[in-house]
Amino acid sequence: MRRDWDLILVGAGLANGLIAWHLRHSRPELAVLLIDRDRHCGGNHTWSFHASDLSPAQQQWLAPLIDHRWPGYQVRFPAFNRRLQGEYCSITSASFAVHLARALGETILTGTAVSRITPDTVQLPDGQTLHARAVIDGRGVQPSPHLELGYQAFIGQELQLPRPHGLSEPILMDATVAQGEGYRFVYTLPLTADRLLIEDTHYIDQQRLDPDHLRQAIGQYAAAQGWAGGELVREESGSLPIILDGNFEAFWAQAKGMPCSGLRAGLFHPTTGYSLPCAASVAELIAAAPTLDHPALFNSLREHARRQWAEQRFFRLLNRMLFLAGNPSDRWRVMQRFYGLGDGLIQRFYAGRITLADKARLVSGKPPVPLGAALRAMAFPVFPSRELP
Ligand SMILES: Cc1cc2nc3c(=O)[nH]c(=O)nc-3n(C[C@H](O)[C@H](O)[C@H](O)COP(=O)(O)OP(=O)(O)OC[C@H]3O[C@@H](n4cnc5c(N)ncnc54)[C@H](O)[C@@H]3O)c2cc1C
Repeated sequence: MRRDWDLILVGAGLANGLIAWHLRHSRPELAVLLIDRDRHCGGNHTWSFHASDLSPAQQQWLAPLIDHRWPGYQVRFPAFNRRLQGEYCSITSASFAVHLARALGETILTGTAVSRITPDTVQLPDGQTLHARAVIDGRGVQPSPHLELGYQAFIGQELQLPRPHGLSEPILMDATVAQGEGYRFVYTLPLTADRLLIEDTHYIDQQRLDPDHLRQAIGQYAAAQGWAGGELVREESGSLPIILDGNFEAFWAQAKGMPCSGLRAGLFHPTTGYSLPCAASVAELIAAAPTLDHPALFNSLREHARRQWAEQRFFRLLNRMLFLAGNPSDRWRVMQRFYGLGDGLIQRFYAGRITLADKARLVSGKPPVPLGAALRAMAFPVFPSRELP
């Protein structure tokens, strides 16, 4: 194993995996090492996104990694069902691992838990020290006292059904189900004609829900839809951070000059916790970097995150409306109102690119939560240094 690298990526999850994939194609001259503690890259996920979340160039370099594409999707609320046009795509971590292994070969080191890293060194468990112009820490989310969070907690089960399910497009939110401690919906992806991924999802204040309760709810939902008798093929679970507020400077000061990527760098959509589009942008940022020396790389990642943080201010405000105003079991009303808005606005919302007019539209009209509570949530003073929305 060589000791000196241009870049060492610690954690071969979505963010670092995409950096490695993109660099292999756009900067093949670079010596990049990807390290993960697991036996393969990518963990156990199905990563989905709207094609419109990505630029045409990003769609092109990500295309070989995509396992499923659908031309549109549905949402279901007590007041209406709606179909939205626009390609929805999924990447499974299993095929992500295979693609990375093929593209990167021996520059992937799996089964290697790393605990000692600096911005330019990585100490392996056997004591060996590797050097690089920069090391990027992409080991996933880490708790921070500088972010005020809600959570999107879910369990997803991939079920092999005894007969075709008849669903041709995803149901991104079925919120006609009984509500729980927060906003609850079921998310369903038709992976093949007789295989579904069904996720029972909750926007809640605490990080965890009883997993058995969620599994039971998936079984009941499947039966109610006429999809009973499915065999469990795979299960995934998550508790994704939803940002209500935070102190950006203090959050990044924790990194102490260590370049970070993915959830560790706070680079995700504040309302969904999804990070694929952010990860694609960071991969391009690194590929275009004039130098990979760690001080410069750290600064450009922090500046990128700072711009994103500023752009996401309005999303944090909406999150506070969702989590802090009104009764948790009424959170679905906020989402139902949102999905009654125009296609373009919904698309721009998920891409994190809303306009001033969109913002006005989102907060105009009668709020779906009590007005006084909405105003208090908007001014929620957790972090005194936060700019007012
Ligand atoms: C089940 C699930 C489904 C999701 N679905 C979507 C989705 O549909 N769309 C979307 O955009 N987002 C989704 N997300 C949210 C988010 O995009 C993912 O969590 C994403 O994987 C985060 O990327 P990451 O690179 O920051 O972290 P991860 O992908 O979690 O990667 C971190 C990696 O670091 C490794 N690691 C940790 N510690 C060490 C160590 N000490 N040494 C070496 N390696 C280490 C881990 O093994 C892991 O492979 C989902 C999350 C989950 C949990």
